[in-house]
Amino acid sequence: MSRTAVYTGTFDPVHLGHLDIIERGCKVFDRLIVAVGINPDKSPLLTIDERVALLREVTARFGNVTVEPFTGLAVHFVKQVGGTCMLRGLRTTSDLEYEFTMSLANMTLDPEIETVFLMAKDIYSHLSSSLLKQIAAFGGDLGKFLPEQALSIIKGKVGSTGAR
Ligand code: ADP
Repeated sequence: MSRTAVYTGTFDPVHLGHLDIIERGCKVFDRLIVAVGINPDKSPLLTIDERVALLREVTARFGNVTVEPFTGLAVHFVKQVGGTCMLRGLRTTSDLEYEFTMSLANMTLDPEIETVFLMAKDIYSHLSSSLLKQIAAFGGDLGKFLPEQALSIIKGKVGSTGAR
């Protein structure tokens, strides 16, 4: 049986912590769909098209990963693409409460879809897109946190907006 998982997120921008989850997740599942969504609590720095294009570029080396934008409920998107699992990354105990709530809500909405968590690698467990945008706003070096393809896009954007 072929197993398809969906890794949802805002990815504003995709960073090395996300990429690590994608690289490990695509070994666990036959097919991994990275689903780029709209989080109403965040005002993104990159447009949805920019985030999708960047993710497609940095995941092109993985044979079983595709990237798609999505709107609406994640569980509906998972069903629509024939998936059975949602993949999430867990960084710290502070992620746990939010992720626990989300996975329970998703389980209630669709009991056939499981949420699978991969622990963040220690070197990436402090990384978040919001932190990276703050570092960028103050001219910090993002070379150790972002894939090369993201660096110039972020540098071009920062300064023109105060998005977090
Ligand atoms: P969202 O707005 O849905 O939280 P994010 O882009 O912030 O979207 O995160 C998408 C997913 O990646 C979430 O499961 C999040 O926990 C995970 N994630 C974020 N940062 C890291 C990291 N440094 N290491 C591992 N997983 C991460």
